[in-house]
Amino acid sequence: MAKILVIGGSLGGLLAANMLWRAGHEVKVLEKAVNSLDGRGAGIVTHRPLVVALARCGIAPNVPLGVVVRKRVVVARDGSIAQQASVTQVLTSWSRLYALLLAAFPPANYVQGASVLAVHQSPHGVTVVCEDGRTFEADVAVASDGIRSLVRNALAPEVAVEYAGYVAWRGVCDESVLSKLTLDTVFDTFGFGLPSGEQLIGYPVAGAGNAVARGQRRYNFVWYRPAANDGALHALMTDADGQHYPLGLPPNKVAWQQVAAARQAARQLLAPQFAEILEKTAQPFLQPIYDCASQRIVFDRIALMGDASFVARPHVGMGVTKAAEDAMALTDCIAQYGANAQGLQAYQQLRLLPGQRVVDRARALGAYMQATAGIASPGTGAGSPAAVVVRNARDVMMQTAVDLSEQQISPSFQTTGDIHDDPASTSSSTSSSIA
Ligand SMILES: Cc1cc2nc3c(=O)[nH]c(=O)nc-3n(C[C@H](O)[C@H](O)[C@H](O)COP(=O)(O)OP(=O)(O)OC[C@H]3O[C@@H](n4cnc5c(N)ncnc54)[C@H](O)[C@@H]3O)c2cc1C
Repeated sequence: MAKILVIGGSLGGLLAANMLWRAGHEVKVLEKAVNSLDGRGAGIVTHRPLVVALARCGIAPNVPLGVVVRKRVVVARDGSIAQQASVTQVLTSWSRLYALLLAAFPPANYVQGASVLAVHQSPHGVTVVCEDGRTFEADVAVASDGIRSLVRNALAPEVAVEYAGYVAWRGVCDESVLSKLTLDTVFDTFGFGLPSGEQLIGYPVAGAGNAVARGQRRYNFVWYRPAANDGALHALMTDADGQHYPLGLPPNKVAWQQVAAARQAARQLLAPQFAEILEKTAQPFLQPIYDCASQRIVFDRIALMGDASFVARPHVGMGVTKAAEDAMALTDCIAQYGANAQGLQAYQQLRLLPGQRVVDRARALGAYMQATAGIASPGTGAGSPAAVVVRNARDVMMQTAVDLSEQQISPSFQTTGDIHDDPASTSSSTSSSIA
């Protein structure tokens, strides 16, 4: 039995902590937040490896995670269905996963208010120092401290968090307030809206108390909109009193003027169903979209995982599933080689390449937004004057938030000399199944 410290007690940290603890190790989670993390985040797309990982955390496969959706649709500006396909997926929420993972872990080993300041290591172990002066010793440390990882910044300061040139407006709208048109045509689907230069996706999630009964659910949306890094992003990340939040705007601080402008744009650009959802969402919030890719995820006795190692744009819907795959690989490598530098090295060999690949695929899926914003996208050619991106509505619908390890799907975007949508792709209505 080894002593293992997990830095960061969000979904990634809890997945790793639960699995390592169930494998017989003495595991402590150090989480800087003092209050409950519940209420963070919104909808989460699930994939098969996440369900496998939850089972390894002691969460039975028959525990309901959320809402089952069987159909994807692209909704045209006039509200008609331009494309549809049969795709079955379970949509859950950050809160649901957090509650299940927290309940599965011994509360005494989940230390809140432990803000890690430094991590030191020797050939024999690690020492973690917190802001309040507390220190913790272990054989290895796992850093799951998110996109702004303090541990990664200390060990690999060259790794950049790069703004992608667009933001995601997000929110959840109660099913009970929506019109019959929206309920009948969009609510039960994984829906797509593709206004020029932008993209909206949405899907139903459980309502309060994890209720999945008709009338009690919510519709979760993510609306990607370009925002230049000069002034537009700064304005979006500033509250109504003029305070700027460059590292993240709390949902309750989004300026009412920005919310009003987004709703106005929704009425002009989106299908009436999506405009209604925007209008009736009490508190839309927004997040800038970033890329982050590491060249190394292991430093002797310290490993990075989850968003601390790689952040792929949410088009792949893989953030939590990738964290789950990291946690499983880490647990297996420690079981095989021990909680030491060799065990962590084996973990890096398994997870470095998949992490880099998922970031690249997410960049390709988001290249269209960057091209229309005139921003170069690494590896895609998007945004350069000669090579920009054609968007095919059916490809967007079929390739967003799917796990390529479950089904082989061809690359979504071609580079050409023009920026435009492929008109043929939005005019026909077809049906196919990848479920
Ligand atoms: C718009 C958007 C949509 C998304 N949609 C999806 C989706 O559909 N599906 C999906 O799988 N993923 C999605 N994601 C990504 C997903 O939310 C993350 O990938 C996932 O939650 C993994 O996060 P994590 O646990 O690694 O990091 P985080 O959730 O960022 O957690 C890091 C934790 O570390 C703590 N911490 C930080 N610093 C310290 C410190 N110094 N000491 C102690 N603790 C510290 C923080 O308080 C926090 O609790 C989306 C993301 C965005 C932005």
